[in-house]
Amino acid sequence: MSINILVKSFGCSANFSDGEAIKGMLKNAEFNIVDNDREEIAMVILNICTVKGDEKSLNEIKKTLEKHPHCFLVVAGCIPKHLIPEIKKIKENLTIVNTHNIKDIVSAVEETIHDNPQKLIEPKRKPKILLDKIRDNPIIGIVPISNGCLGKCSYCSVKLIKGKLYSYPADLIIKEIENCIKQGCKEIWITAQDTACYGKDIDTNIVELLEKVLLIEGDFYVRLGMGNPQHIKENLGGLISALKHPKMFKFLHIPVQSGSNPVLRAMKREYTVDDFKEIIKTFKTAIPEITIATDIIVGFPGETEKQFYDSIKLIQEIKPDVLNISKFAARPYTAAANKEDKINGAEIKERSKKMTDTFDFIAFEQNRKWKNWAGEILIDETGKYGTMKGRNFAYKPIIIKEDCQIGDKVKVRIEKATKHDLRAEKILNIKH
Ligand code: SF4
Repeated sequence: MSINILVKSFGCSANFSDGEAIKGMLKNAEFNIVDNDREEIAMVILNICTVKGDEKSLNEIKKTLEKHPHCFLVVAGCIPKHLIPEIKKIKENLTIVNTHNIKDIVSAVEETIHDNPQKLIEPKRKPKILLDKIRDNPIIGIVPISNGCLGKCSYCSVKLIKGKLYSYPADLIIKEIENCIKQGCKEIWITAQDTACYGKDIDTNIVELLEKVLLIEGDFYVRLGMGNPQHIKENLGGLISALKHPKMFKFLHIPVQSGSNPVLRAMKREYTVDDFKEIIKTFKTAIPEITIATDIIVGFPGETEKQFYDSIKLIQEIKPDVLNISKFAARPYTAAANKEDKINGAEIKERSKKMTDTFDFIAFEQNRKWKNWAGEILIDETGKYGTMKGRNFAYKPIIIKEDCQIGDKVKVRIEKATKHDLRAEKILNIKH
């Protein structure tokens, strides 16, 4: 029975990769995958993310049921156990397929349309690669390399869902990337909860994996996804050599979360502020134009005014190019949820604003350094207001007005910097 199905994904690259696979497997089973809800649809699959709280996902479910009262609804994605009764309160007979069970999406959908809602939530340790996919972006191959992590971060709900590190076999990852290249991908996004601890459960490591990836023939770039400081430190020399390779974007995403050691200890993060600073200094010395992305949580329980300003000072010192700022929110069943010394909401908001203002200035200063840079960019996204967006070797977001297509390589000169991106003029069309 071929019905129209809309799949909406949220959250991190790994979850979007799941969404692409869900679409690919359903299309293979002769369901019609539509990409917007203006079309006549019979089913919506919400591939949710709950890392920052449950409310957003519960509201998305309610909104979808209001908008499409006659549709089947399947909830997939990062669904913590405690959320299932809340989902069932919204509508009793909803099908639930969590991130571990996406390979069974076809049978779950078939059972659902025959009025037999499913609940597939058992944790699985199976690689979610070499699956048929409908990519959200035809030139970007999102390649998950593992599931879970080795962390015990006290605020984190992802660990409760994804569990302990399960690294995928390197030969399967290489096969996946070769398929992506054959299918026209120009960017390979290596992704995981923590790419830097890859292989620690199967007697290998991220450096050995990247060495194999960089031997693959073809014209493509590799973006290494986020890795935690303690594991990046273990692989420092090898990661620097790998990132120096022309195929690697000079981009490092390394979440620090706080600039205060007592707060890092309370978060159960396994490194110190000095460890983090040393790593950044070493990368910036070896690759001066590297783009540094990091994450900060403001308002963690017990964080004093002084400790908050230690985070501000750290950001002012290391001057990241990208900063993901999160306001602490207690996640059910996490260790931090039981902490008594919580900071009030207004104060957390105030700290988030101060951190944002601090970073906005740094982001503009960092981008201004690229003024007059000229070189090649890969067009990988449609921009706003008729513009196109591309990335240079340092994965800097560069906006151009000229006519070109996703996948094109063009030579540009940076004319202007903003806190978000760089604005450029095209000098030359290089190739498609
Ligand atoms: S490393 Fe920490 S924050 Fe990241 S997924 Fe694991 S437990 Fe969560």
